[in-house]
Amino acid sequence: MPVTYECQRCTACCRWPGPVRVTDVEVNQLAEFLGLPVEDFIQQHTQLTPDRRGLMLMEQASGACEFLAGNDCQVEPVKPQQCRDFPNGWNFPGWQAECRASIEKLHAF
Ligand code: SF4
Repeated sequence: MPVTYECQRCTACCRWPGPVRVTDVEVNQLAEFLGLPVEDFIQQHTQLTPDRRGLMLMEQASGACEFLAGNDCQVEPVKPQQCRDFPNGWNFPGWQAECRASIEKLHAF
């Protein structure tokens, strides 16, 4: 059985510099959640990815995601799939030194 990790909401993955990519569907969901026209959301909250193939969320000066406030994601209900998938869907060598996700405990029924 593959090991799965449970997020402990340490928000380390929100603080790393690096693109949080958003799809067209996610842009629409984020704009609606924030009550903004899509064009305004794109202007105010996204920029081109370094490879210029898509859009990413804006970053704070520290490199953290723009939507991180303290330890909270301000767009949690509609956060992008990239955010939802870490660390089980994707990760990188050494990620466990940075992130506090723990091995999910299986409950016997
Ligand atoms: S959208 Fe939310 S979960 Fe994703 S990086 Fe930004 S603050 Fe973190």
